[in-house]
Amino acid sequence: ALRLNQVRKRYGSHEVLKGIDLKVATGEVISVIGPSGSGKTTLIRALNGLEPIDVGEVVLFGESFITAGERHGGRFQQGILEVGMVFQSFNLFAHLSVVDNLTLAPRYHARLDATQRRQQALALLDKVGMLAHAEKYPHQLSGGQQQRVAIARALAMAPKIMLFDEPTSALDPERVSEVLEVIRALAEEGMTMVIVTHEMAFAMSISDRILFMEDGEIHLDAPPMKIRSGEIDPRISAFIGPAA
Ligand code: ATP
Repeated sequence: ALRLNQVRKRYGSHEVLKGIDLKVATGEVISVIGPSGSGKTTLIRALNGLEPIDVGEVVLFGESFITAGERHGGRFQQGILEVGMVFQSFNLFAHLSVVDNLTLAPRYHARLDATQRRQQALALLDKVGMLAHAEKYPHQLSGGQQQRVAIARALAMAPKIMLFDEPTSALDPERVSEVLEVIRALAEEGMTMVIVTHEMAFAMSISDRILFMEDGEIHLDAPPMKIRSGEIDPRISAFIGPAA
């Protein structure tokens, strides 16, 4: 579904991505873990063109999506609709109700009338357990609820791939699980996903592969079973902790 070829990115003299090669197959769930500053967020932002890359390319469904030095390549306009993104900080439109946050998704405008847009938005809100809050405004919701709306909004674009950048890091601990369960349900439906997370047990339980990033490189790319078997670098095992 998605491929990175030799992707490099630097900020000044600091090389944050050091030639990343990665293949994500359709239906695969990949979690990216690693210490703070290792490049996880930069990597996931590079995947959908939010972060321009210096070298390499991102290939989406066999077509070059993003190439070096170019933010909006030829494939970009179409591609960006195919890749949904959920941020740490929710990023809902504060001045719009929950349901209007969803109906503004551009993909809707292209193919549905207002009534259909609303119906689909309500169905997606139901899916993330937020139907009862459709007419509220973001400030009236908890962080966990806002994040579930943000996930529904990303889904409203009918993406083929979903990216999550530390989706639970900004939440109160008691709100983390409700968001993880929504993501888990998407995984079970077969959505292709790349998730940057610090939730090790969650990553180990839903992922087909775990990527451990350090210092701009992928130091481990392995299925959870291999990690559990103990056949990996003990340092990475220690990082993963009891979930390993
Ligand atoms: P965390 O887990 O703390 O979010 P991360 O693995 O996601 O970390 P990144 O956010 O990708 O790491 O950052 C990688 C490095 O790039 C860090 O050293 C960071 O300070 C640096 N960096 C990120 N964005 C910029 C920027 N816009 N300008 C300069 N340096 C940046």
